[in-house]
Amino acid sequence: MSFDAKHLLGIEPLSPLEITTLLDLADSYVDLNRRAHKHGDALAGLTQINMFFENSTRTQASFELAGKRLGADVMNMAMQASSIKKGETLIDTALTLNAMHPDLLVVRHPHSGAVALLAQKVNCAVLNAGDGRHEHPTQALLDALTIRRAKGRLQRLTIAICGDIAHSRVARSNILLLHKLENRVRLIGPPTLMPSGVADWGVEVFDDMRAGLEGCDVVMMLRLQRERMDGGFIPSSREYYHRFGLDAEKLAHAKPDAIVMHPGPMNRGVEIDGTIADDINRSVIQEQVEMGVAVRMAAMDLLARNLRARPAEVMA
Ligand code: ASP
Repeated sequence: MSFDAKHLLGIEPLSPLEITTLLDLADSYVDLNRRAHKHGDALAGLTQINMFFENSTRTQASFELAGKRLGADVMNMAMQASSIKKGETLIDTALTLNAMHPDLLVVRHPHSGAVALLAQKVNCAVLNAGDGRHEHPTQALLDALTIRRAKGRLQRLTIAICGDIAHSRVARSNILLLHKLENRVRLIGPPTLMPSGVADWGVEVFDDMRAGLEGCDVVMMLRLQRERMDGGFIPSSREYYHRFGLDAEKLAHAKPDAIVMHPGPMNRGVEIDGTIADDINRSVIQEQVEMGVAVRMAAMDLLARNLRARPAEVMA
């Protein structure tokens, strides 16, 4: 197995071979998840703690299910309601949890870099379930698996990522992964929602949906992340939908077999038309959710193998 990482903090440190190793293992977990009996034992005897400092529906449920399917003892901590409200620092929380000897810690945090900081303080394997606008590695991996299964390959594709790029960890992780596997990435959105420095990212940038979608194999839509906006980034939702919302007319500019993706949660009628989202001939949004469980099983399985192979460490 070619996967040496101790933690899964982002796509950035992963090699193309590590990415394909993880996706190949995830493919086998897709098969397991479609069987009547869905249990494996790769995580038997291990303790997984999910620590979400930001709201999540699908990611948390997906990590929980992934751990349970592989036999781990899974505990969810409702961080909004607990210690952080009482002023405990992230590091104190980490040290407290560390004393309970978890093997896998799944963390989502509103601040970029917070998950990496926490990983330095604990003995177990840490998985980043989204840190601020920085990275969301399992989302990019599940997107990659969805694309690979739909298109039969994950190279030399043209992928458009559309909408609120500036606030999106999903966009960042996807761009890193898709570039590592030699795909062309286009970013489409209003200039106010493009990150500064985007010119150095090796992508093509468009502020016109029709021009940007021309000839694309994959159309990935993003949610307007209003919780991360501190001012007027768009004139109105209506105006935004008119210019950047994906509808049948704009989609017709992409290749006839282009697939439509969205990481969820979706704002129907803001960034995507509901009929496109539900069109089973174009939309792979439900497949993304299915791939999410398999990818998280594979990620935790690989990290657990590395954990078992390492001699026990004593924290400094
Ligand atoms: N669920 C994704 C994330 O956590 C995308 C989103 O929230 O719009 O980043």
